[in-house]
Parts: sequence; structure tokens; C-alpha cells
Amino acid sequence: MHLRGIVLGLVLAAAIPVSARQPQTVSLIVSNGIVITVDGTRRIVNPGSVAINGTQIVAIDTPAAIAGRYRATDSIDATNKVVMPGLINTHGHAAMVMFRGLGNDLALMDWLQKYIFPAEAKTVSPEFVRIGTRLAALEMIQSGTTMYADMYYFEEEVARVTKEAGLRGVLGQTVIEFPVPDAKTPADALKRAEAFIKEFLHDDLVVPSVAPHAVYTLDAAMLTGASNLARKYNVPLQIHLAETSQELTLSQERHKQRPVALLESLKFWAPITIGAHGVWINPEEIAILKQRNVGISNNPESNMKLSSGTAPVVAYRAAGVNVGLGTDGAASNNDLDMFEAMRQAAFQQKLISMDPRVISAPEAIEMATIGGARVLGQQARIGSLETGKLADLIIVNMDRPRQTPMFDLLSQIVYVTRGDDVDTTIVNGKVLMRGRKVLTLNEAEVLTDARAGAELVRKAVQ
Ligand SMILES: [Zn+2]
Repeated sequence: MHLRGIVLGLVLAAAIPVSARQPQTVSLIVSNGIVITVDGTRRIVNPGSVAINGTQIVAIDTPAAIAGRYRATDSIDATNKVVMPGLINTHGHAAMVMFRGLGNDLALMDWLQKYIFPAEAKTVSPEFVRIGTRLAALEMIQSGTTMYADMYYFEEEVARVTKEAGLRGVLGQTVIEFPVPDAKTPADALKRAEAFIKEFLHDDLVVPSVAPHAVYTLDAAMLTGASNLARKYNVPLQIHLAETSQELTLSQERHKQRPVALLESLKFWAPITIGAHGVWINPEEIAILKQRNVGISNNPESNMKLSSGTAPVVAYRAAGVNVGLGTDGAASNNDLDMFEAMRQAAFQQKLISMDPRVISAPEAIEMATIGGARVLGQQARIGSLETGKLADLIIVNMDRPRQTPMFDLLSQIVYVTRGDDVDTTIVNGKVLMRGRKVLTLNEAEVLTDARAGAELVRKAVQ
């Protein structure tokens, strides 16, 4: 079309009233909810509707405006419900739901060395990881998590289950120095990690990643090997970072440096590095993490249960370090409920700082959504409800005794809401749970398999 045609077209389009234009057909409309967007202006549209086409959000507006512009092949009524971005769990070990409740009330190193590492050595197989990850996926879908970060073994099994469940994941193949079920040596683990990255590099749901376990379980060469792999493929690098005071001692003994200083001297950091925990960190280290764009996954429940300490979240945020929330593995939490993680993150910081104003409800929501997306390097695609972003969202039931009355929407989400209140979970435009019914996994089968798998764990620690 030449210029005159374009101008004529524009004039004609402008002359036709909006109501007379042909509505565009889209795949799904979530209508008439209270839409918390967590966008740049923290817009809340109440009542609001979200139009989704395929994998993308195409519009967020008043119900009348959306109804006027779009027709949908499927629709979900969200009246009296909250529509918000899916929650992003920035640290965990999904299949460890199989060790839920195993060895409680112990310090991290005791718990790891007496229970978890021996149990893993005897039970972890591709099938065990599949069964455990399915159980975790079910729990995540049912509690409103739409993307999660994972560090485990047989990560290709984790990836396949993640895709089958319809979830999004930054999934990291573990590299650790002692023999583990999927690798006899760290060199084997690195080979596995590379094959895994190649297999899932262009996947629509899985972001492959490499996960060197920690500075106390790897030497400098292995840490560098993992970092080089992440940079070669430009994939996220995940590591447990300064989780306990004992980790500092071990790092000093082994490497003669604190964890952050060691990693800085090794030029370890990749474009996307996720530091899990970041508890034992001083101001100079915060400056390094900011400079190197390292995101921190704050795991308040795991840190409290294992008495690991409290991450300096307020200082991180003041310094401009990206902070997301995580549950850690269910073995040290003991669930995967990100609503609880939001609440505990806020409470823990208020207590430790003796200042109830820190980590407000809006800040806790931000850490669980767009903040988590930034930590995982996914903020351009997900983390908020905005036109053009991928349609990862949840619908939350606010029509319960516990949710009544409601004076302040955002505080209700953080201080009252539980994972069980999530009614519907949508990832990549696909409905994974609708009215509490999970559509992508067979709940009864998943539970039966998990209970059978738990017998292996029971035998392993007898
Ligand atoms: Zn962990």
C-alpha cells in the first residue's frame, strides 16, 4: 500500500466507532477480577479483565473495554477474585519433596550429612526424580507457583516433568565433588550439564542452567568449569552462597577466602547468576554482588528452620541488588507454598530489624513476582501482567471466612492468603489448574507413586 492508501486507511479506521469494529478473537479472557499487575506503575485494575492470545497477554483493561474489543474461545469468570502474576520460586530442589519431614530439628550440616546425602545416595534415580518432581509440580500448581528454579540430579527428568506439568523452570544440573547418583566425578557432572543445556537450550518452558553446589563442596577448578559452561551457552548459573556461618569457616579453611571473595577472584559470575540464601554477607560483598549483577534468592523459612541466619534483605534492596524469594527444597521448609514464603520474608525482616515498616506487603509481592523474574533473568518475559508478556498468572479466591473483611488488598495477599486459596493457575497461556482441579497431572497417580517412592527413603535411612 502506498502512502496515500495508508493515510486513507487510518482516516477510515478513526472514523469507525470503536464499538462497531470487529472484535478480535483471542484464546482466553479472564474477566471481571481484581487485577494486580505489578507493572512499572504498580497498576491495579478493579474490576479488570485480561485478554490472552496463545502464549501472550494482549490486553489488560476494564471488563467493558475488553468485552468490546475481544471475543474469546475460552473464558474464566474472576468475579470477587484476585488476578495476579504467577509466583516465582527462585530456589529449590523439587524432587526433595520425597524427603519432606526427614530429619527435622537439626543443623544444616548434620541434617545434610546424616540424612539427606546418604538417603539421596541410596534412592535417587531417574524414576525417583520423576516421581518427586511430579509431586512438587502438583504442589506448585496448586499453590500458585508458575516458574521455579531447581538444582538437582538427573535434571533432564526434572525438565521433562516440568514440561508435562506445563510449568516454567530455570533448571540446573548439579555439579558437586563427591560421587552422586548421576555422576561419579565433577567432570562427569559437567559433561551431563552440557548435554542437558544443549537438549533444552531453545525450549519454550525450560531454561537450562548449571548448578555448582557450593564453595565448600567444590574446588576452584570445578567452580571455574561450571562458570565457563554457563558463559559458553549464556545460561543461568546457580550456587548456594554464604548460607551458613559454617560455610564461611569451611571456605576460609579450604580456599583461604570468604565465598564471595573467592568467586570474585575466580571471575566466576555469569551474566545471570543466582546466589541462593546470601545470608552471611557483609557490606563490601553486597557491593560486589550489585556490581556483578548477582541475584539473591532469599529463603526465609529454610533459613529459620535450620537456624542458618537471616539474609540482609533490606540492605540488598537499598543497594539495588535483585532479591527474589524461594522455598528451598521441601526437606527444609517443609512445603513449597510461596504465599507463606512472602509472609515469612516480611515478618523475618521486621523482627530482625525491629522495624515493622521494612518489607511492606507490596515489596513482598514484588519479590515473589517481578523481583524473582529479575533474579532469574526472565523479567522481559514474565513477572508482571503487561501487554506483550507471557501469560503466567493465577486467580486467587478471596471469598472465604479467613479473607473477610478486606480493607487492604495487598496486605491481604501477603499476610492472609495461603497457597490453598489459589483457584486457577495459567502458564504460557495454558490453564494448568481450573477451579482447584489440576488438568496436566493425574493427582491420584502422582500421590500413589510418591507414597511408594517414600518406602525406598524409609528403608534407606533405617
Ligand atoms: Zn538449596
